[in-house]
Amino acid sequence: MKIEWYPGHMAKARRQIIEVMATIDVVIEVIDARLPASSSNPLLAKLRGVKPCIKILNKNDLADPEVTRAWVRHFEEESNVRALPLEAKQRTEVAHIPTLCRGMVSRPGKPWKSLRVMVMGIPNVGKSTLINTLAGKRMARIGDKPAITTCPQQIDLRNGIFLSDTPGLLWPVMSDQRGAYRLATSGAIGDSAIDYADVALFAVAFMMRRYPDLLCARYDLQALPESPTAALEEIGRRRGCLVGGGEINLQRAGEAFLRDLRGGRIGRVSLEEPGEEIVAEAAPEEG
Ligand code: GDP
Repeated sequence: MKIEWYPGHMAKARRQIIEVMATIDVVIEVIDARLPASSSNPLLAKLRGVKPCIKILNKNDLADPEVTRAWVRHFEEESNVRALPLEAKQRTEVAHIPTLCRGMVSRPGKPWKSLRVMVMGIPNVGKSTLINTLAGKRMARIGDKPAITTCPQQIDLRNGIFLSDTPGLLWPVMSDQRGAYRLATSGAIGDSAIDYADVALFAVAFMMRRYPDLLCARYDLQALPESPTAALEEIGRRRGCLVGGGEINLQRAGEAFLRDLRGGRIGRVSLEEPGEEIVAEAAPEEG
């Protein structure tokens, strides 16, 4: 599998982010708690500089809690960064964010002012879900006149916080193929761009190494199969993914397995841990 984005997309996003970043007090970067490194775009860290940043480890309901705690410690080693695992649909969890934002910019003795906050992240990490939960019924769009092209859409949260939409599309970085497979496993890449059997074999191999008990429990396997292919065949057999002559249709087996994994039906699974040498240089810069 080789999945790449056009560098031109990145160059445009970069220009747009630079423009808006100057007006922003706090950056909220939404990442996927199951793969915090591969679902981050290093370009953002570079453009953000030392600006306060809250990393939202979203989809926490699907991730391994122990690994997520390790990621929080890892991210919070950087000054000006706070990390908050949550589930973007959960109002009570999201409700901590405004206080956290204010805490990050409070200056003793300075008068309280309204904050401009930008929500960023690669597609499918849950930005829209988070914005909707943050805004709730209070959502009011301002500055949406067509003439204001350099100013992104803003949402007045009516609590002293103005939320800016993502100004540019920030694609994941695909130069690291392990990262690309993790993204594909998580569902962050459109399924039309992936080969189910190929991605599922990667994911099954990972599960056999890291979470063998969860895998066996979900599919009622007495012992761990010899190879990822044997395991996927076994899963396919149990899920009725057969073609003529009792052969397994590995594409359908892969699709069924990935659906189980992404839906949390195998258990809470994290695809990467801090300390593994992972990802990804920022893509070559342009323009
Ligand atoms: P965006 O492209 O970053 O704006 O992502 P969306 O808000 O459209 O979310 C992408 C998908 O992830 C949707 O199917 C959401 O329902 C799902 N999603 C968002 N947040 C969560 C979460 O905390 N947990 C789970 N399990 N799914 C989520």
